[in-house]
Amino acid sequence: MLLIEHIDKLFSRQLLNWQLVQDNYAALDRLATREIVIPVGDSMQDSHIVLQYNPERLRSSSASIDDASLKARPCFLCSENQPKEQETVVWDNRYKIQVNPYPIFSRHLTISAIEHTPQRIDGRIVDMMSIAHQLPEHVVFYNGPKSGASAPDHMHFQAGLRSQLPICNELFNATISLFDANEKGLFGIITQLGRPVFYIEALSIEQGEEWFNSLLKELPVKRGHDEPLLNVLCWHDGNGWCIAVFPRRKHRPACYGTGEDQFILSPASVDMGGLWAVAREEDFNNLTLHDVMLIYLDVCLSPQDVEEISERLRQFYYSKI
Ligand SMILES: [Zn+2]
Repeated sequence: MLLIEHIDKLFSRQLLNWQLVQDNYAALDRLATREIVIPVGDSMQDSHIVLQYNPERLRSSSASIDDASLKARPCFLCSENQPKEQETVVWDNRYKIQVNPYPIFSRHLTISAIEHTPQRIDGRIVDMMSIAHQLPEHVVFYNGPKSGASAPDHMHFQAGLRSQLPICNELFNATISLFDANEKGLFGIITQLGRPVFYIEALSIEQGEEWFNSLLKELPVKRGHDEPLLNVLCWHDGNGWCIAVFPRRKHRPACYGTGEDQFILSPASVDMGGLWAVAREEDFNNLTLHDVMLIYLDVCLSPQDVEEISERLRQFYYSKI
């Protein structure tokens, strides 16, 4: 049986057997949504931000992820701490795929390492691409340990429906400044969508891995961090893989808070992809295009830094010709 068939059955079972899943997926269908359009220019399709008013997400957008808080809590991705109703589909003896009981997508999976091991992308992009290939219609995503992961001490990806994440349908048409291109795909930077996106289209896993790793080497690592601040999206469109990397400079925007003109928002991969799960009603009602643009500008690597990294990658691939 194909992985996707196992996952279909897993969903059906959990919707029947687990009240929390049944309630939260039913509630998801009733959530209010609102759209904000980032105008991109006449030659390209505009970028769309979907705001989803989702009070259940408060636990993740306001989660404490400092070392002391992490040590004090039982890890919710370790099997011994999970609810007895939660079932698992094992992938490659190394990851367990589970239904996320607090969904943003009408199909929302958590894909975590079986072993309790820190959240790191280095050496894992091939896993991400392989899983994406086996989950058609899905986008697999990764939040860096300090860029939105709610369990930075336990390696995990997530997956949702690609059709529900706006950017997955926008990158194809976006203007890309190329670093490298060949018969196996292309690699470059897209800067017109309100947030910078390093973008790879690859017809082979090896080519995708090579380009991704060359980018990972160029992104800055802050003192005391184990990897660059980033969010990664990966999907397979039937022909090949698409990988979108959002370089970050911080996790929470300066406007994070409960005061006037402040928002409880901790942007992660899904928000970078254009779907904002907003936990507070006033934030859902008040967010404007201006706020969205400022938050992206604030949490993403600066345009100057992005240009410097892009120039190094251009030089690197140019010198290889
Ligand atoms: Zn764990």
